[in-house]
Amino acid sequence: MAFLQLANIKKEYNISRTETQQVLRNISVEFKQGELVALLGESGSGKSTLINILGGLDNNYTGSIILNDEFLKDFSEKQMDDYRKKRVGMIFQSYNLISNITVAENVKIAMKMCGVDEKIQTERALKLLKVVKMDHAAAKFPNQLSGGQKQRVAIARALANNPDIILADEPTGALDSRSAELVMLILKKIAESGKLVIVVTHSQKVAESCSRVVSIADGIIAQDVKAAGLNAKSRTRRAARAGSISTKNIMALAWKNLWRSRQRSLLVSIAMAIGIAAVILILSVSAGITSYVNEVLISGDESLRLEIENPDGVSFADSEIEAIEKLDGVSDTSDAAISKNNVNYAFKNIGGTLLTLTSAEGALPAAVAGGRPSEGQIYINEALAAELCDGEDASAAVGRQIELSMGKGEGVSLVVSGVYEDGSSYSAFACAYAERGVMEELYASVGRKLPLNRLIVEVESAQYLTAVSEDLQTLGYTVSGENSSLADILTYIDLGTIVLTAVGAISLAVSAIMIFIVLYISVIERTKEIGVMRAIGGSKGDIRRIFLFEAAFLGAIGGAIAVVASLLVAVIVNVCTASLGVNIVSYYYGIYYMVGLLLSVVLSVCAGVAPASYAASLDPVESLRRE
Ligand code: ADP
Ligand code: MG
Repeated sequence: MAFLQLANIKKEYNISRTETQQVLRNISVEFKQGELVALLGESGSGKSTLINILGGLDNNYTGSIILNDEFLKDFSEKQMDDYRKKRVGMIFQSYNLISNITVAENVKIAMKMCGVDEKIQTERALKLLKVVKMDHAAAKFPNQLSGGQKQRVAIARALANNPDIILADEPTGALDSRSAELVMLILKKIAESGKLVIVVTHSQKVAESCSRVVSIADGIIAQDVKAAGLNAKSRTRRAARAGSISTKNIMALAWKNLWRSRQRSLLVSIAMAIGIAAVILILSVSAGITSYVNEVLISGDESLRLEIENPDGVSFADSEIEAIEKLDGVSDTSDAAISKNNVNYAFKNIGGTLLTLTSAEGALPAAVAGGRPSEGQIYINEALAAELCDGEDASAAVGRQIELSMGKGEGVSLVVSGVYEDGSSYSAFACAYAERGVMEELYASVGRKLPLNRLIVEVESAQYLTAVSEDLQTLGYTVSGENSSLADILTYIDLGTIVLTAVGAISLAVSAIMIFIVLYISVIERTKEIGVMRAIGGSKGDIRRIFLFEAAFLGAIGGAIAVVASLLVAVIVNVCTASLGVNIVSYYYGIYYMVGLLLSVVLSVCAGVAPASYAASLDPVESLRRE
């Protein structure tokens, strides 16, 4: 049974929509282990085409390739990746070393693809470089080497995972005769160690050093001549399952790629950082200004209450209070009373009916003279004060005594504690505040119970004022006491935040597009390298992951820059506005920084998906053709 058998291999290329070119018409040939085969043929005869098929880079052919009783066509994509990783090693005329990593790294990368232990990688790379007499240059970079030296490194790389088959496509094509001889000598030794080595050449001299010469012409095997045999060791080899490249190594590769074009990477990261920092700062400033409004402009919690009246004039039912307390943003309620057109007042020879007498609870309107009432006192509006003083200054009313009474009931005598500025629609009429006890006494005097028809609704924070007020109105209550200018300020802050966040979002979109473009360009620049990675066993997924990690790193760097920059801006702005007594850029919301960082990474990765998928989908044969 042959080690490697090709039966009726046919391959055609589409030249145009209608035209195809039959390159391989019918290739049937068998190879044994330990053979050093020269594949001869004119330029364009299909040698590279055949090598790429054998190397597992091109699956678009008909016919069968049977390796140790296994049909290549039956392999899954994963098995094909393994095949390229472990069972074939490829060598190209143009070396195809990866230029930004050292000679040793170039050899190790093939082992990395298989998830070989780092220590074994280093040992084995050095051993293989010794075999090809390149150990002295392990730390050099490919462009510091001559062509012959590069090709020897490429041979070491092809041997890295100890494959059964070495496929060399014109390995000496670009070399001077001395270098070519050395390369052929090494390949001969490799064949003697029991591997199948197939060397594409059109040099007769190279062909002569091989144990067998197979010629292709017109798409078939035209000649198959066995020369003096090599004394190959026959060896059987376990078909080892190849491992996969570790995430750590994928990340290391991605990082190296970014480092290679570090200026560009940094610029893109900064572009991303600008958008992210803008969003972080907008959110922090909005939070800062909101807390400024809440803490400084709204002194105490007196502005954080709304007052409602029961339209029926009777006490609020428990169920009504419960429903109100359940509203979003309501922290507490307390009952109070308002009596309309029930209570009469008398002072010397004047008198009348109070339009409203309200129980003095919580915040009262600001005083123009005196202050809020305590026991036995009354707090009157300017309209009533004017009546009492008859042309004198309103403050003269403070300290005067007035009688309140209801119907035929007994009156109560109260001292004016202060005069308030009435902002309500009742300001033209006599209105007053007194302690609840006074009102209860008045009602008792006519045998009635004071109805608790007024409710003071405490709101959690200023942001809720408008919403709670609207909810209460929806429930059918008349709302007073709302500090509408504050609610307006907060609404404007919210609006401003939304507008600015939209601007930030646009700049983020621009950054994401930049990352997309940069990665896309990078895929194009590195097309050949991607081909190499695929040829040495990298799976589509590996390639995709490399680019996704590059995107993630760009995002993480951008996010980190954004966090540092916005913290810096925050400190500077806060130091400059320290006199306001509140941090205008809030530090409080660490979450904004976390979100910024995360957003940066997620956005970059999203922007990287398309370029990464494009890179993964590149045809390895086409990629390797790139100059
Ligand atoms: P060789 O390596 O023997 O010089 P190749 O295998 O590279 O020849 O190419 C064989 C023929 O197939 C050539 O005529 C070439 O133009 C054609 N060919 C190779 N690759 C493609 C391709 N991707 N699309 C169309 N034609 C191709
Ligand atoms: Mg060729």
